[in-house]
Amino acid sequence: MKAHDGMYIDGAWRPAAGRDTIAVVNPADEQVIAEVPAGGAEDVDAAVRAARAALPAWAATAPAERAARIAALRDVLVARKDEIAETVTAELGAPLPFSQAVHAGVPILVAGSYAELAASYAFEEKVGNSTVYAEPVGVVGAITPWNYPLHQIVAKVAPALAAGCTIVLKPAEDTPLTAQLFAEAVHEAGVPAGAFNLVTGLGPVAGQALAEHEGVDLVSFTGSTAVGRKIGATAGAAVKRVALELGGKSANVILPSADLAKAVGVGVANVMGNSGQTCSAWTRMLVHTSQYDEAVALAAEAAAKYGDRIGPLVNAKQHARVRGYIEKGVAEGARLVAGGPDAPREQGYFVSPTVFADVTPEMTVAQEEIFGPVVSLIRYEDEDDALRIANGTVYGLAGAVWAGDEAEAVAFARRMDTGQVDINGGRFNPLAPFGGYKQSGVGRELGSHGLAEYLQTKSLQF
Ligand code: NAD
Repeated sequence: MKAHDGMYIDGAWRPAAGRDTIAVVNPADEQVIAEVPAGGAEDVDAAVRAARAALPAWAATAPAERAARIAALRDVLVARKDEIAETVTAELGAPLPFSQAVHAGVPILVAGSYAELAASYAFEEKVGNSTVYAEPVGVVGAITPWNYPLHQIVAKVAPALAAGCTIVLKPAEDTPLTAQLFAEAVHEAGVPAGAFNLVTGLGPVAGQALAEHEGVDLVSFTGSTAVGRKIGATAGAAVKRVALELGGKSANVILPSADLAKAVGVGVANVMGNSGQTCSAWTRMLVHTSQYDEAVALAAEAAAKYGDRIGPLVNAKQHARVRGYIEKGVAEGARLVAGGPDAPREQGYFVSPTVFADVTPEMTVAQEEIFGPVVSLIRYEDEDDALRIANGTVYGLAGAVWAGDEAEAVAFARRMDTGQVDINGGRFNPLAPFGGYKQSGVGRELGSHGLAEYLQTKSLQF
């Protein structure tokens, strides 16, 4: 696969300071498909300097001009969507139709939404005898994971550019090719030199150098809670702003009045998409005791049908980790009704769609984020019991509620400690704020709430 052997800094591809590289592996066949430079503190410093130098001019551009550049970026993503989908499939392993629809499709929607928001947002408002200006926070250090490699980049870069911020991106080591392709798109879109910069590298090296850099005003991180906690502490010590999008263990609550077959079918598909590597996946399915056995049979059937359509996990480490969780579930007494820990193919990091029944709320598979194609069915006695189970983890990122009556589902959703809930299978909305309660994070992405993360206010009194 095509790869750049340098960093995109100040509008051009420049050689890395060191010689270390990262091998990019196709998880479907375990073959190395490319090498990219593993940047270090020196590269990060050069990128942050470029971002800082570009900040005054970009921050001063009219919102309409920023909107035009983001619209141009969206157009390049549209023009190159097939290449994007193929690149994501090659380095993440997602089946091509999923890469086309989601990994390439969603970032186009999100970039489009920020082209519109940049043009329409009220960057200035009158409050009594004051004028309040929403001004860019400054230089953004963006650190992203591999599971939605382009979406997570666009969900940070598009609002940051819309706000008038400049950016240094450190993408995940497993998916740097998608990030390089994005840098090409930014260049093609005519975003001024230095407004966006890319440094590929390892998390504890390049990522940490970026989070610690004194020239960065806001660290926006998406990834694991363990690393997020560390980044939050570093940012706190420097009195630097921070946004954290972390893990999840979301509940899919099926109330007795719901269409059970639909709720179970959509619920299983929600977990299996992207091979379960979705932070907001509804990995705990909560079913009333009277419908439990029927739900178990439906879930097992849905998982078996999913079968071969599932892609591999991203790398060998995740493969071992997910299989370890499945073994732990069995050891703790959960009942396997589909899939299991055995690798279904000789080559590639595949795990079969897996369904656990007889899961109790305190089991490891019901508490910890597995990040694989594993769904756990938990029984509840009544609504209060369901709510206690739904809210009974350290996370609060997403969830779902199904009921015969929308108002009944909404009433339940309002009592959930979580940032986003889909009612009876509600559709994805790129304008709706996304982010977590509790240990799922700090701050929101997408829409105007996501834009506000990159703004700070100044008030003038008259
Ligand atoms: P990770 O935390 O290991 O890595 C995420 C990013 O942080 C990568 O770019 C990595 O290189 C970097 N990083 C690692 N150590 C670092 C350090 N010490 N300092 C600075 N940067 C460092 O997570 P992952 O394995 O890449 O992604 C999976 C996790 O991300 C899951 O837990 C998942 O739930 C979470 N996630 C959350 C969201 C969300 O929006 N809430 C979205 C996607 C993924």
